[in-house]
Amino acid sequence: MSAEFLSALCEGRILASKCGECGSCSLPPRRRCPECGAETGYVELPHRGRIITYSEIHVSASRAELPYVVAIAELGEARLPGIVRNARYEDIAIGDEIEVIIEKRPSESPLSCWYFFRLTKQKR
Ligand SMILES: [Zn+2]
Repeated sequence: MSAEFLSALCEGRILASKCGECGSCSLPPRRRCPECGAETGYVELPHRGRIITYSEIHVSASRAELPYVVAIAELGEARLPGIVRNARYEDIAIGDEIEVIIEKRPSESPLSCWYFFRLTKQKR
């Protein structure tokens, strides 16, 4: 993720780029549109969205707690990947609503923020 994305995240904002020509949105934000190459501006995304796809991770070098679920959520005009913290794979369905939770990590760095997804509905 870019420095622009991380510094906005630490202020509680989810930033994407939006093309001035074709209107395509990108995450992480890019200076040039990946679709048409035109210059982009920033757009702030809502903190709630819907899961469009998800998968269960069983092997990872970086996390101790396995398995965990990653999802791609549609937040307004852009798509954001993230870990779903409060649900198991079998509790999730495409179209479920999630909320993006931003948290600070214990670190000296000013860009020490990250996010995860929280499923907002009750378990079936
Ligand atoms: Zn474009």
